Amino acid sequence: MGLGVKKGDKVEIVAGKDKGKSGKILVVNYTKRNVIVDGINLVKKHMRQRGENAPGGIKEIPAPVDVSNVALYCSKCGKGVKFGVKLLKDKTKIRVCKKCQQTI
Ligand SMILES: [Zn+2]
Repeated sequence: MGLGVKKGDKVEIVAGKDKGKSGKILVVNYTKRNVIVDGINLVKKHMRQRGENAPGGIKEIPAPVDVSNVALYCSKCGKGVKFGVKLLKDKTKIRVCKKCQQTI
């Protein structure tokens, strides 16, 4: 698993300007150890016009967030939490919330 989080995970931002917000991971960069989270760390980007159906202009796109600034979201706790990894009998790894033991 490497970073502990993967694409599609719901995470809460625990540091920086978007602290307290949550969103879904769109991209994981294992080399740079950062993630792109939907709607988080938005930066304005000037888009070049690419034909009639893709007009140029300013678009807000999510920029990478360091993986240490996100916490896996536990639906039972209702917030970002620390988690542990449990190995099942069939060797499947599951992630559990350290607080409530819920599978994340
Ligand atoms: Zn929990």
